[in-house]
Amino acid sequence: MKKSTFTNLIAILICCSTLQMQGQESWIDTSVHRGLTELKTDYSFKTLTSNDAIKNTAATLNNLNRSKLYFDRIFQTELDFAVLFIENKAWGKHAYFPPPGLPQAGNGNVILGLDKSVVSQEVEKMITQLPQQYWASLKPIYGADIDLDLFYRETLSIHELVHLYHFKEGTKPQRKWLQELFATMGMYAFIKKESVSSYGLMDTYPEFVIQSGDGMAEFKTLKDFEEKYVQELTPQNYEWYQMQLYQNAKSIIDAGKSDILPKFLHFLIDTDLSKTEILSDFELSTRLEKEVGKEIADILINWKYK
Ligand SMILES: [Zn+2]
Repeated sequence: MKKSTFTNLIAILICCSTLQMQGQESWIDTSVHRGLTELKTDYSFKTLTSNDAIKNTAATLNNLNRSKLYFDRIFQTELDFAVLFIENKAWGKHAYFPPPGLPQAGNGNVILGLDKSVVSQEVEKMITQLPQQYWASLKPIYGADIDLDLFYRETLSIHELVHLYHFKEGTKPQRKWLQELFATMGMYAFIKKESVSSYGLMDTYPEFVIQSGDGMAEFKTLKDFEEKYVQELTPQNYEWYQMQLYQNAKSIIDAGKSDILPKFLHFLIDTDLSKTEILSDFELSTRLEKEVGKEIADILINWKYK
């Protein structure tokens, strides 16, 4: 090879790789970052805050980092994302939807509260108005004053991070309950395997809600969940659905089925409505059984309320 040909070849290679890098634009929506301050951390993901004088983020960030490493490993990827800590008063400016302080994820961002979330405040008020014996089980886990952000922020931030692994490839799942089950299974698997000291924080409040029965749920079918979802269900009714899914996630992962998670992720991506027609319940359960696992198809078939 002549020297000039060789030089040309190198030039072409460099040029191509530069183009490729330019083509790989980040998927993170930075429009909601405007006006926030960046926090210096040891982690690979960017962290921003609406008030860097509030110092209650260290444990949450440590958990998120450990869970990111776990999910990157099991999903064989390297997720690029940002974490935003937002005060309730600034929520409307930086978050995608209410209620202030409740973890949410979208477009490469995990958005968390910096103050006590409005949901925690309301639920804590409701619970502590009940006779003591009803909520005695919560005290050893969430403290004498019952700090439910230990559930709503510390635990649910992991559920939100799991959503980003499928949102990156598609945001229109065949069913909303499938994406919620997937995020909760990921959260449960991570905490059970890698963060067992947080197990009580994740499990105690859901068990408390489940034991209090179905009374707060006006709607109970999977069809209602699809049609109404967050927007049209009361917070209690939405939480009722999430807790049913939590119970299912728990029994699947407890049965040693965490290898189901990568298959489940690929199923969500492959059947996203941006590339596939909507499947009937029959088609969906057949494909779930074949491509993910019978346990998931069984949830659809055995759901108590039709
Ligand atoms: Zn979710």
